Amino acid sequence: MIVFRTALLAAGLATTLALPACDIKSATASETDPPTAVTTDSATVVAPVAAPVAAAPASIPAASVASAAVIYARPQVPILCYHQIRDWRPRDSKSAKDYIVPVDAFKKQIQMLADSGYHTILPDQLYAYLATGAPLPPKPVMLTFDDTDLDQFTVARPELEKHGFKAVYFVMTVSLGRPKYMSKAQVKQLADEGNVIGSHTWDHHNVKKYQGQDWVTQIEKPTKTLEEITGQKITYFAYPFGLWNPEAIPELKKRGFVAAFSLAEKRDQQDPLFTIRRIIASGYWTPRTLHNSMVRSF
Ligand SMILES: [Zn+2]
Repeated sequence: MIVFRTALLAAGLATTLALPACDIKSATASETDPPTAVTTDSATVVAPVAAPVAAAPASIPAASVASAAVIYARPQVPILCYHQIRDWRPRDSKSAKDYIVPVDAFKKQIQMLADSGYHTILPDQLYAYLATGAPLPPKPVMLTFDDTDLDQFTVARPELEKHGFKAVYFVMTVSLGRPKYMSKAQVKQLADEGNVIGSHTWDHHNVKKYQGQDWVTQIEKPTKTLEEITGQKITYFAYPFGLWNPEAIPELKKRGFVAAFSLAEKRDQQDPLFTIRRIIASGYWTPRTLHNSMVRSF
């Protein structure tokens, strides 16, 4: 019971208090920056653009994978990280609001991406680009959603669908089926609809502290659970709080992962595929601030 309560607490903390990895640099993007070509008042519904089909990482021969230095030197693709998509409540703290994007603000951010000609890409495309230089669609962006919050399914998903956008959902399995979190059936539906499900541990413990059995509890078992739910191989991982250390990378590789996502900190020059950067799209950001942050951070 103690174990369960601890897990519950950790899961709750993950979405409300997990703030140390906040992207300070881009959060300071100014509203007075030079105007960018963004409009947010269009009601146009854009037809889905067929994305180039990327080779699965497993089908790319090791000899074709570029060196770490070449991968590190390639221009980064902007990757956005979202958590909760819901209107702010009086009790939400100032810092938590970076992690809670109000519904209207989210719709405007996504509309801006569509109006500005962005195309969402998925991790296999990103991997093929980074590893082999495979082409990407014009103005690529990756949308990622962490922590299994229900509003990602009920609010974000239909909004993305309007624009033919796909996303990556990094699921922590302890939350599945709990109130305010997605169910297994919803995670399966996301996968069936062409989104990618990634692993985000069992209950959001910091990877830097894992020892021995922790790798089974936090990585192996939850990833197997996600594979059973989706019927697909899970090969992408997001570090809780964006925190990683060099010791974690071989452990992830050993367990079949091909890439891992952090937050805004520097990448590892030895292993850029396992320290792919993302920025948290803040609840405070207008579409223009988001765009400026994307341009500045990647
Ligand atoms: Zn998380």
